[in-house]
Amino acid sequence: MRFCVLGSGSKGNCTYVESNGVGLLIDAGFSGIEVGRRLASVGVEIEQIRAILVTHEHGDHVSGVGVLSRKYQLPVYANPGTRLAAGPVLDKLHAFIPFVTGSSFSIPPFTIHPFAIAHDTVDPVGFTLDDGHCRFGYCTDTGMVSRLIQHHLQRCQGLVLECNHDLEMLKNGPYPPALQQRIRSKNGHLANPEAIAFVQGMLHAGLRHVVLAHISQSNNCHDLVRLEVERSAMMGPQFSLACQEKPGELVDLASPPFGGAGDGY
Ligand SMILES: [Zn+2]
Ligand SMILES: [Zn+2]
Repeated sequence: MRFCVLGSGSKGNCTYVESNGVGLLIDAGFSGIEVGRRLASVGVEIEQIRAILVTHEHGDHVSGVGVLSRKYQLPVYANPGTRLAAGPVLDKLHAFIPFVTGSSFSIPPFTIHPFAIAHDTVDPVGFTLDDGHCRFGYCTDTGMVSRLIQHHLQRCQGLVLECNHDLEMLKNGPYPPALQQRIRSKNGHLANPEAIAFVQGMLHAGLRHVVLAHISQSNNCHDLVRLEVERSAMMGPQFSLACQEKPGELVDLASPPFGGAGDGY
């Protein structure tokens, strides 16, 4: 299994996951052209995509879903609440396949499990994707880490987890108080210390790579996140930080890791 965060942040989110030649997108918050360009830059042809999975209806996750679905005849998987709430943005889809939050479904070779997260939308989810060899977990846009979330993200080899804001930067930053409140609420986004504790709770010998994602451009910075990861002295997985402007590396969860424990960004 391979995965790549094609971009992440409040201006757009899209992650590519592939196994056995079958490619899936989790969210598409960039234009169709931009998704194609970013995939090409990591050596993936957009024709490999077989479906789009949607986490929730915010524009930074769905703005490109409708165009991609129509242009490349891609089915879109979402729960009915998200489909309804995102309706005007998604417009007509090539095909819509509803799932039920908490119930697994299959897009061979993947078994996909959508689980509930805490965010200010109708029925937001994170996902685990299992191809029988590897397990990948995706969870951003959650204001808190529930036991349910922790339960589902256990035993993954690859993880994409939210690390949204620094509390001081948020407090002293450009956002009005009401928006700050929204971000800090339990249905908002995870602050750096919460995110680090989240990752620490997910550590196990098989965990190979963690991407910290949805890093705020106004209320956080990559150097600060790197520092917090270093301070936490977590051993084992490789860490990388997702960017808004460009894709991260295409991570192969099946190939042997290079470098020592915990090194590299
Ligand atoms: Zn978002
Ligand atoms: Zn959101």
